Amino acid sequence: MTATTAMGMKMHVVPPMIIPEIPEGFAALTKDDGKAREYLLSQTWPTGDPFCPRCGHRKVYSLSGDRLRCASCKYTFQPFSGRWINNGALSPSEWLRLITLFVEECSVHQMKQELNLSYNTVYKALTAIRFAILAHAIDARQLISAATGLDSYLKGNRLTGGPREMRMDTIPVYGILRRDDLVFIDLVPGFQAETLFHFHMNFHLKLIRTGNLVYTDRYKDYDALIFCGNDSLPYEVIRRYDEPPHIDAVNDEFWDFAQTRIKRFRGISCQRFPLYLKELEFRFNNREKSIAEIITAYLCALVPVQESA
Ligand SMILES: [Zn+2]
Repeated sequence: MTATTAMGMKMHVVPPMIIPEIPEGFAALTKDDGKAREYLLSQTWPTGDPFCPRCGHRKVYSLSGDRLRCASCKYTFQPFSGRWINNGALSPSEWLRLITLFVEECSVHQMKQELNLSYNTVYKALTAIRFAILAHAIDARQLISAATGLDSYLKGNRLTGGPREMRMDTIPVYGILRRDDLVFIDLVPGFQAETLFHFHMNFHLKLIRTGNLVYTDRYKDYDALIFCGNDSLPYEVIRRYDEPPHIDAVNDEFWDFAQTRIKRFRGISCQRFPLYLKELEFRFNNREKSIAEIITAYLCALVPVQESA
């Protein structure tokens, strides 16, 4: 959103922050660990019957404790085995409270205070939430891959890995596509940070940099290309422009929405960047919906098996 001041200068007006609502029923579950667990189980097994997370077989035996065993492949598992929610040491009601705070876009610091958990515990659980959101995007398979580097966070179906080192020739580039009321943020195959520096130097593609974040003018069907770099990049070659790039000039609803949030992305690594981009895409495309239940269902879904694993 832009407004023109008395001086005739255009200034950016931050749109009012819409705090998404948490339904009453959902809020009530966060206060009762037993009910919270029942709710999570209903998302885990939507038909009510447990099934094997490894082979999908529906005949399972109950063992002692929480354990179950598949009658077909003999795999012994627990209700949340192999699911995104299995990554994080939170109780069922803590998970639902964390989801509430995530929906309300609280800071990690606020979450840790509210939940009385350590920073690392909250941070890891948030990573599971963001992976679960990304895993439900239509291009998830392309995104959880070596091309983005996100594959290195997963060991089998557990988020126990870490980032891989990235340079100019491996930092991936994403494209922002606006269609009607929706946004799609894609991985641009074959493009790396290096490609955009080359286009800038040799073909005058406009680059705008704020911190480690670099975005471009229109490129083919994309309203902008974007990447998150690191300290290895030659940012000093980026020229300044008097005219804003397309996405800054057109008063775009998504870009307004994204920019207030991207400012809080400071310190985000190039490796984790796609998680935040797909979170923005998800929040924007579902801005009219109650997302707490959607996120819970995503979190209870099975982690997809990696092809290379
Ligand atoms: Zn099985």
